[in-house]
Amino acid sequence: MRSSAVPALPLAQRVRGLEMPWNRVLSSASGPAGAATALGPWHPQEFAAECVETIPEAGGMMVFVFRRMDGAPLAFRSGQYINIDFPIDGPNAEPVSRSYSISSAPTEPWTFSITIKRDPKGKVSPWAHDNIRPGTVLDMLGPVGAFHLADYDRRARFLLLAAGAG
Ligand SMILES: Cc1cc2nc3c(=O)[nH]c(=O)nc-3n(C[C@H](O)[C@H](O)[C@H](O)COP(=O)(O)OP(=O)(O)OC[C@H]3O[C@@H](n4cnc5c(N)ncnc54)[C@H](O)[C@@H]3O)c2cc1C
Repeated sequence: MRSSAVPALPLAQRVRGLEMPWNRVLSSASGPAGAATALGPWHPQEFAAECVETIPEAGGMMVFVFRRMDGAPLAFRSGQYINIDFPIDGPNAEPVSRSYSISSAPTEPWTFSITIKRDPKGKVSPWAHDNIRPGTVLDMLGPVGAFHLADYDRRARFLLLAAGAG
């Protein structure tokens, strides 16, 4: 139960010039607190997603673009990831689960990307590179992860640079 000492969440804030998926929820839900709960980082959903494009990148990386089969956008924060089941031993065997960071921007929630680095000695990543094609449907759970920018400062602009995967 929420204590009266907890400060109220700030009013919905629109990132100037950017349509963030939670703006619509913030303006339509019963209040900022309700919307924050609805899109909270610890409320991942199970869903199926279809690969719509694969884009080879340098360094043994491949970008896989997906869209949800239920037609819903994927509301997430930059820095979150998805757990994906890969049917590497066929449709009747137990799938193998791996985590992948969402590598697309939350401002474009109708499709989303993951970028997988091929580990030649790995179980899943070579299978993903060799088998996931447009039309491939995978079961996913997400978004997951609390390592993202704080919600209260959405108007701020950041430039973050990072390297590495795996
Ligand atoms: C939160 C999170 C986000 C991630 N985001 C990304 C991402 O954006 N992109 C990305 O490419 N990866 C990401 N990863 C890593 C990803 O989940 C996989 O671990 C990675 O793709 C390797 O999986 P794999 O099945 O190919 O390899 P695995 O089969 O898991 O093997 C990995 C390595 O361990 C070695 N190995 C396996 N078993 C043994 C053993 N018993 N003894 C010694 N060595 C062993 C293998 O030879 C191989 O080199 C992320 C992981 C986490 C947790």
